[in-house]
Amino acid sequence: MAKKNKYQPPKLSEEEKKRLKEILKRLKDAYPEAKIALKFSNPLELLIATILSAQCTDERVNQVTAELFKKYRSAKDYAEAPLEELAEDIRPTGFYQQKAKYIKECARLIIENFGGEVPRTMEDMLKLPGVARKTANIVLSNAYGVVEGIPVDTHVRRLAQRLGFSKEKNPDKIEQDLMALIPREEWGQIAYVFQAHGRKICKAKKPLCNRCVVKDLCPSRQDLTQ
Ligand code: SF4
Repeated sequence: MAKKNKYQPPKLSEEEKKRLKEILKRLKDAYPEAKIALKFSNPLELLIATILSAQCTDERVNQVTAELFKKYRSAKDYAEAPLEELAEDIRPTGFYQQKAKYIKECARLIIENFGGEVPRTMEDMLKLPGVARKTANIVLSNAYGVVEGIPVDTHVRRLAQRLGFSKEKNPDKIEQDLMALIPREEWGQIAYVFQAHGRKICKAKKPLCNRCVVKDLCPSRQDLTQ
């Protein structure tokens, strides 16, 4: 069987690398406290919250999990819960039928294959249903301090593209581009810095370029007179 070609991030000029380095510095300085917004007190709670955060705001997820985590305290609780009841409990997060199925199946596999504990490696995390690299990166890094990549959500994707870190559309390729350009010791925090800037300034529909700390370095800046 033919081997799949491994994705190779594009090579950048020294000048371009300097520009990206300066962007990272300014954004990190602008959001020094940037961190995960989901509330959790153990790896299982973070996994559940991250699954629920698909197509839903972190604020809404936090509202739902405030009650959910009182009712479901272990993987066994989720695995044994009637599907319809669990779906109803997470309904406000949207796509609740599918999310309930993923959560129950994840819980079952965590019990059967991982002794009731959320796995600690990327390889094992990706064996869980509904868990792609974004979720795995969030859980591994925030619950265990294991940083294997950069979680690419809608804000990270938008910022990476607008700022010229990546021309890709596929989140896994965007992640590869970011990992090639950003020092490893910064992988754990950079997604939250991008998220903070994306929420506050570089908004999806109408970016506030005239208030942006990297406007002079951004190839996507819009008319600053508006
Ligand atoms: S200049 Fe505008 S498009 Fe570029 S990062 Fe800043 S807000 Fe976003």
